[in-house]
Amino acid sequence: MRYFRAITIGFLFCAACGVALGCGGAEPQPAGATDATQAEPVEPAAPEPTEPPVEPRTEPSTAPRTAPEPPAPATKTQPPQQPLPQPEPRESGEPAALGCLRAAYADFVEGVESDPETKQLTVVMNDGTKLLWDDGAEKSYEQRLANPDLEDQFSISYPLGRDFEIPATNDDPGRIRVEGLFRAVYGKNSRAVRDNLVKVDWMPSHSRKRLVFNKQNGAAEALGRVSAELEESLPAEMIKFAVPSAGTFNWRKIAGTDRLSVHSFAIAIDINVKFSNYWRWALKRNPVPVYRNQIPLEIVEVFENHGFVWGGKWYHYDTMHFEYRPELLARQCLRKGGGTTAVP
Ligand SMILES: [Zn+2]
Repeated sequence: MRYFRAITIGFLFCAACGVALGCGGAEPQPAGATDATQAEPVEPAAPEPTEPPVEPRTEPSTAPRTAPEPPAPATKTQPPQQPLPQPEPRESGEPAALGCLRAAYADFVEGVESDPETKQLTVVMNDGTKLLWDDGAEKSYEQRLANPDLEDQFSISYPLGRDFEIPATNDDPGRIRVEGLFRAVYGKNSRAVRDNLVKVDWMPSHSRKRLVFNKQNGAAEALGRVSAELEESLPAEMIKFAVPSAGTFNWRKIAGTDRLSVHSFAIAIDINVKFSNYWRWALKRNPVPVYRNQIPLEIVEVFENHGFVWGGKWYHYDTMHFEYRPELLARQCLRKGGGTTAVP
């Protein structure tokens, strides 16, 4: 609880509005500053990039075949890691991924109902929300994005760690989200999410910026642990990638869709936009998104240790973006053996 405390302010604003990231879809902009506390000065919000940030000239002009080799890992002692929730042995007949969901949202899943005739499973949340596990429909990738069931949310598994391949077409682990789940856990509307916001000191040795994040389901605590571990382990020359953050909370729809950005739930953070790469920017030079990344994998590893997935492991990449998705990082739901699980 050292890294955040409850906010008491009644006014919050989003400096960057109308944003849309790989969190779904249109032009990327950082989530924007969300801290309006007068008494505690914060760093100004990162500018809204209508144009991509200037990319270093040293960057390779073509996509690497494999993930770029990061600089040597830090030699400092790693702080102890908080184990991510792991599924209990599953009940007979339940899909394995349902166990990952139960483990990751244990305080919010009331139970699972099974229709005696159709055998369809329905996850019942403790606010009464009912979410169908599998609607039985065959869907394309775009259909899963637009209208997913819970099973679809697990249909592209996440490759944990440094050893990952450049994502194949539509290989976007984490980009398919059932909005009803996030509303049930983190807040059903903007006001409810705001009531769940707490402040997290983001790398306080290097920044006075305090970020708002959702306290539900341990999300804010997890971000606080990320900050502490980065401060402990990150080599000095890599601090610039993490500080300043480009923002966390911004209740908004993804441009051109009826879907909410995951930043709406205050469970996603954009790190320094200056070093970010984004698939739509790449389309200005190539007909398909050519993979690019400047974010050191040291940073990615720390976020993953605490339940966050990285937008840099998406075909529709968004390398400044990390979101709290512990269900995808439960051991039995992780990608095994490399390759891709992309949906056509
Ligand atoms: Zn983002």
